[in-house]
Amino acid sequence: MTDSLPKPRARRLLVSIHDVGPLFEPEVDRLRALLTRHIPEDRIAMLVVPNHWGKAAITPGSPFADRLRNWADRGTELFVHGWFHQDNVIHKGRVDRFKARHMTASEGEFLGLSEAAAIERMAAGRALIEDISGRPAAGFVAPAWLYGPGALAAVASLGFTVCEDHMKVWSPASGRILCRGPVITWASRSRARIASSLAGAFLLRNALRGAGVVRLAVHPGDTREPSLLDSIERTVAALAAAREPIRYRDLAAAPAGNAFHSNAPIPDSRLRPARRGAV
Ligand SMILES: [Zn+2]
Repeated sequence: MTDSLPKPRARRLLVSIHDVGPLFEPEVDRLRALLTRHIPEDRIAMLVVPNHWGKAAITPGSPFADRLRNWADRGTELFVHGWFHQDNVIHKGRVDRFKARHMTASEGEFLGLSEAAAIERMAAGRALIEDISGRPAAGFVAPAWLYGPGALAAVASLGFTVCEDHMKVWSPASGRILCRGPVITWASRSRARIASSLAGAFLLRNALRGAGVVRLAVHPGDTREPSLLDSIERTVAALAAAREPIRYRDLAAAPAGNAFHSNAPIPDSRLRPARRGAV
């Protein structure tokens, strides 16, 4: 793929499926079927939860592990997406307590973890995915895109190639921000959230028309609501018609200074690799 280096000013699209694991296997299949009508399967990143809510452990040699291996063999990027996904920490600060409870339905597993605990879970998740897929994990994405200070230090310590939160993609390994801008996503937890995410997807799709890179993320819960599936289908179709779907690793491999990179160093030293190879 020598001709695949991103061209200046080209418009790119990053697409991901969150919460991949045996707990939501039918939903993930449905999302893959929808997305692959518009995007090649090797351009759809899968965010894998090793043991969702402590009741859906992925084990090497299991049928689900074989599916992950198969997808990886066909070019799909597999990310570590937490371990349990659920936030089981007692939060000290009022703001963190509010975020954990109200913004994520307590799914922000990495919001309150210490660096040591975060490293332990991230390293175990990475080892599992690499054992199953036979290749490096694509990166780490915290559940609900929420990172506490311990999680930010941990991704730097472990030197992940790619991480993302709601507003940016960055590389702890290189210390670069790879792209900025909100991710287009949907929420299915309540009628009010469904309504606002439908409006939000429409508005963002238009507001981000000139962006170098647009990110789109879908979740298993989206499949329970036909209006969300319609919105996802329309949004993916419109974006895929105007943009080239790429892999996260294409973004990380692109030279600094192209249309979607920020050359600015990451100001927060916690985003930089502190002790690569230590774990
Ligand atoms: Zn998730």
